[in-house]
Amino acid sequence: MTTAPVDDADLTAWLCTYLPALTDAANQHRWAHKLTAAIGDIRAGTPVAQALANHHLPIDIAAAGAEQVRISRGDPGLLDDLNIDPVAVTGPYTCPATPPCPRRGQPDTHGHQPRCGVRGTTMTLRSR
Ligand SMILES: [Zn+2]
Repeated sequence: MTTAPVDDADLTAWLCTYLPALTDAANQHRWAHKLTAAIGDIRAGTPVAQALANHHLPIDIAAAGAEQVRISRGDPGLLDDLNIDPVAVTGPYTCPATPPCPRRGQPDTHGHQPRCGVRGTTMTLRSR
């Protein structure tokens, strides 16, 4: 377990982006209850790194933070240990929550609006 400081906004965006894949992994490897508990804490205001650590999630927080820094530069990301496919993090949709996830989104191939899994809301089209 690493204790390197990671920007909470980066980690929030990373978690939001990868939550669907993490949920699949959690269901497969029987840590879904931990993930659910951690998300509950995050919605209640616990910093992401602390929430993940509190519930002993098998997520390398430093790696995730570094990953998000890369992703936000436009490089598609991939978390090797979890075999997660790259996910688009750009688009006109933003998280409506306070505080918002820094993630951006776009409709899926069926035209569904993207959802913010961390905050549990549908993302909204950014107005300019
Ligand atoms: Zn989000």
